[in-house]
Amino acid sequence: MWADGGSLSSVFEDIEQLAHECRFRDCTHHSEPGCAVKTAIQQGSLEVVRLQSYRKLEKELRHLAARQEDRTRLEERAKWKKVSQWSRKNQKYNQ
Ligand SMILES: [Zn+2]
Repeated sequence: MWADGGSLSSVFEDIEQLAHECRFRDCTHHSEPGCAVKTAIQQGSLEVVRLQSYRKLEKELRHLAARQEDRTRLEERAKWKKVSQWSRKNQKYNQ
């Protein structure tokens, strides 16, 4: 369901929109000065629970992406192992 970053931004469009107004592009909305998300919470236009669930989902997505990367790397390694085994076998036949 939460396959990529695209779904994250569509679910939390309001936060994503606010994030564009943050002073820093890589703002984590924790303690950065000029954070539009923090300002919205202070002004009451954004609920703090919403930012919390946004963070939670973002963390899960990052975790998922990292795991996916690990798996891809393992598969790649297994594939190359097979290829080298195969070419070794083939060399024998060619001799
Ligand atoms: Zn921010």
